[in-house]
Amino acid sequence: MTNILVFIDTPDGALHKSHRELLTLARSLGEPVAAVPGPVSDGLVAALGEYGTAAVVHADSADLDDVLAVRKADFLAAAMDRTQPQAVLLPNTFDGKEIAGRLSIKRRSGVVTDAIAVANDFTATKSVLAGAYTVDAQVRTGTPIITFKANSIEAETVPQATSPRTETVPVPAGAPAARITGRSEKASSGRPELSEARVVVAGGRGVNGDFSAVEDLADALGGAVGASRAATDAGWIEHSAQVGQTGQTVSPQLYISAGISGAIQQKAGMQTSKVIVAVNKDPDSPVFEIADFGIVGDLFKVLPQAAAEIRKRKS
Ligand SMILES: Cc1cc2nc3c(=O)[nH]c(=O)nc-3n(C[C@H](O)[C@H](O)[C@H](O)COP(=O)(O)OP(=O)(O)OC[C@H]3O[C@@H](n4cnc5c(N)ncnc54)[C@H](O)[C@@H]3O)c2cc1C
Repeated sequence: MTNILVFIDTPDGALHKSHRELLTLARSLGEPVAAVPGPVSDGLVAALGEYGTAAVVHADSADLDDVLAVRKADFLAAAMDRTQPQAVLLPNTFDGKEIAGRLSIKRRSGVVTDAIAVANDFTATKSVLAGAYTVDAQVRTGTPIITFKANSIEAETVPQATSPRTETVPVPAGAPAARITGRSEKASSGRPELSEARVVVAGGRGVNGDFSAVEDLADALGGAVGASRAATDAGWIEHSAQVGQTGQTVSPQLYISAGISGAIQQKAGMQTSKVIVAVNKDPDSPVFEIADFGIVGDLFKVLPQAAAEIRKRKS
C-alpha cells in the first residue's frame, strides 16, 4: 500500500482547513497516515477518520509544542522510519517549510516547497519567479517531501469514515533546541484566518493609513483583511496581514483589492483567487490587468457604498 505521511501539527487539537486539504490530497496519492507531534484526542482521531486517514502516528511526549522546529523534524523523521511512506506532505507555512528542509537533510531526500498540485507520480506543480512561470518539479533522491499551499484543493470527507489505528512514536532525544518560554494570545479580530478565508478584502498604500473602510467591508462580507507590503511596512496593519511573494498566499472565492497597484510581488500571493475585484483611482493601474471586475474610483467612496448595499441586501 502506498503510504502518504501527512504532518498534522495542531497544538489546539483541532483539524484545521489546511490539514483537511492535505489529507484530501494524500487520498488522491495513496493511503493517508497522519503524523501528529503530540498526544492525540479521540476527537482528533475521529476527525482524521472523516478524511480517510488509515493510521495515526503520534509523539510520545507533549512537549514538542514548547520547542521550535528542530524536534518536530526529529519526530517526523522517526515517523518516516516507522511508516516507510512513499511521500511526505506538510503545510506550506513558515514552520512547515523549515521542518521539511530539516527533514530532507536527515533523510537525504529531496524537497519541493510551494506546491499547488501533486500528480500520482509525485510531480509537484508550483509557480516561480513571483508567478511569472508555472513549473513541474520531481524529487529524484529519496522520499519526496512536499509542502503544499493552502486553498489549492477543495477538502472533501470520505463517504464512510475510517477508524484509524493509532501508534506512538518515541521522539529521539534531540539536540538542544530553542525552547518557547512564554506565549501571549493574539487579540482576536473575530474575522476568519487570512489564509483560509473565502473572502479577503485587502488594502494598500491607497488607504493612506486608514484601514477602517477595508475592515468594514470585510466585516460586511464575513471576510478577512489583507494588505500590500507597502501598507504593512508603513505600520498601518500587522505584518501577518501581508499578501504576496514575501507574505501569505491566499486563494479565496473573492479577493477585493483596494488602493493596491498590483505589483508582481503582490500578484504572486493572490492571483489564484477565484474572482478578483479591484478598486483603484488610477485607470491605468496594472491591478486592472488581473481583475475580473474593476472599479475606477476613490476607495473611501466605493467601499462604504458596497458595504452599505451588502448589509441592506442581507437584512
Ligand atoms: C523582494 C520583494 C518582495 C516583495 N513582496 C511583496 C509582497 O509580498 N506583497 C506585496 O504587496 N508587495 C511586495 N513587494 C512590494 C511590491 O513591489 C510593491 O512595492 C507593493 O506591492 C506596492 O504596494 P501598493 O500597491 O499598496 O502601493 P503602490 O504601488 O504605491 O500603489 C498604491 C495604489 O493605490 C492607488 N490609490 C491611491 N489612493 C487611492 C484611493 N483613495 N482610492 C483608490 N485607489 C487609490 C494608487 O492609484 C496606486 O495604484 C515586494 C517587493 C520586493 C522587492
